[in-house]
Amino acid sequence: MRGVAAAPGVAVGPVKWLASAPVTSPDDAPGSDVDAEISLAETAFETVAARYSALALDATGPAADILFMTSALAADPALLDQVRAGIRAGGLTAHAVTEAVAHFAEQLNALGGMMAERASDLRDVGQRVVAELLGVDPPGIPDSAVPFVLAAQDLAPADTATLNPEIVVGLLTVAGGPTSHTAILAKALGIPAVVACPGAVAIAEDTEVVLDGTGGAVEIAPTAERRAEVEALRARQADAPTGPGRTADGHAVPLLANVGSAADAQLAVELGAEGVGLFRTEFLFLDRKSSPTVDEQTAQYTEIFRIMGERPVTVRTLDAGSDKPLPFLNLPEEENPALGVRGLRLSSVDEGALLDQLSAIEAAAKATGTPVKVMAPMVATVEEANYFATRAREAGLETRGVMVEIPAAAIRAGQLGAEVDFFSIGTNDLSQHLFGADRMSSSLAALHNPWQPALAATIAFVVDGASTHDVKVGVCGESASNPDFACVLVGLGVETLSMAPRSIAGVRAALAEVTLEQCRAAAAAVLAARTAEDAVVAARRALGRAS
Ligand code: PEP
Ligand code: MG
Repeated sequence: MRGVAAAPGVAVGPVKWLASAPVTSPDDAPGSDVDAEISLAETAFETVAARYSALALDATGPAADILFMTSALAADPALLDQVRAGIRAGGLTAHAVTEAVAHFAEQLNALGGMMAERASDLRDVGQRVVAELLGVDPPGIPDSAVPFVLAAQDLAPADTATLNPEIVVGLLTVAGGPTSHTAILAKALGIPAVVACPGAVAIAEDTEVVLDGTGGAVEIAPTAERRAEVEALRARQADAPTGPGRTADGHAVPLLANVGSAADAQLAVELGAEGVGLFRTEFLFLDRKSSPTVDEQTAQYTEIFRIMGERPVTVRTLDAGSDKPLPFLNLPEEENPALGVRGLRLSSVDEGALLDQLSAIEAAAKATGTPVKVMAPMVATVEEANYFATRAREAGLETRGVMVEIPAAAIRAGQLGAEVDFFSIGTNDLSQHLFGADRMSSSLAALHNPWQPALAATIAFVVDGASTHDVKVGVCGESASNPDFACVLVGLGVETLSMAPRSIAGVRAALAEVTLEQCRAAAAAVLAARTAEDAVVAARRALGRAS
């Protein structure tokens, strides 16, 4: 069975499906004693609130915040009052919970924005309380002491954020795409994942599978020999090489990390990243209602630069808008935000935000001595590249680059190269715009498959354009984290690869097994392939991998 590879590594284990939500009906048998029913409901809410708090204590970062807030929702007196009123009015306990939750969720939805997002947390609370009352498994991650592959239609970020990688050894979703949040979080946790696998619906609970998060294949009911082979591969991956990225014949390929917080930077250092190739600054400010001041920004950047020390850090200026809205920018509503005023284009409506950010980056670089480069997202034209490079130089920043994620920029790489010092290819948005395929759409996941030969052809074009200047080319989209595709990128002439910190080990190991010549042959094979499927087969053959 094939899906789309979303987080590298291989897993073997029984499939367990994400439990679905229990259903209540007004026709369920009524309880006889109203007071006893109310006290059952109260106990169920308390139990569920306590479970969320316990999970929150075990979690860190955004997952902990989300879980604490959800615990508070489960303890909300107004919600319980509504449930009590429903039971007194002759309603049945579990169904009274469903109705009270639906009532409040509707109100939250009507408020829109962040409030509407709380509605789905509230529904999760309701489903867990109902499951408690009915004595059935709660929806969500099944309880199991035995490691398993978690299968689901799709996963909410809150589900993925609380996963324990020792128990959930693989993720398999029917929907989702390789650049979805599930994929990004799975990589951050180091859990192999295959997404957009419609055939998965036919896999019965507890069926043994081998899941290849690097190639996208799912094998049903492996033989004992195959199982042993996969276990051996997992052990080999666990003892993979360390140190700087290089091919077997010594061609250096710096392996850099994509980070969005100090915690990511810490992890990057622990996992041997040679620097940061993409610092997504907007992640620091997603919940801000007012613009962060220059001093606040300087403090945040300083913290991350200090963690990286002497390792180089490439900071991307705010890539706000579209899938990363920043409330304080007060952006107008747009029909097609992915094609709208976002990334560097925001400086046409609020240049001050860019200038403040550049001065904060410069101040933090000076305070720490960390070698800092800056780059702008969503650059389409030579004028935009020139504008950014000029503003960055005026702010005192010497090494300036642009992301290549719009086909126009790729086609004119030879001209853009005269304006900047480096290119960083963002293959997530580049695929989105190259194939005209929304990166958030799971039904278009096949077009976001990095093995699509048109993507490699576009990258080759960028490398060629850069070579007429002394412009370095890196890749920082999700495609760089696919170990075999990373070798293809090297063969295409890409000099640095930047990825989620947990993907670095797999890419380092893959590079260490092949020569630069093999990488070049794999790149040529992909460029010559007719389809994405042919490309992966031909490249793996050129790299000397088993079929
Ligand atoms: C990209 O588009 O490939 C990229 C790295 O940026 P982001 O995923 O943050 O849009
Ligand atoms: Mg992008």
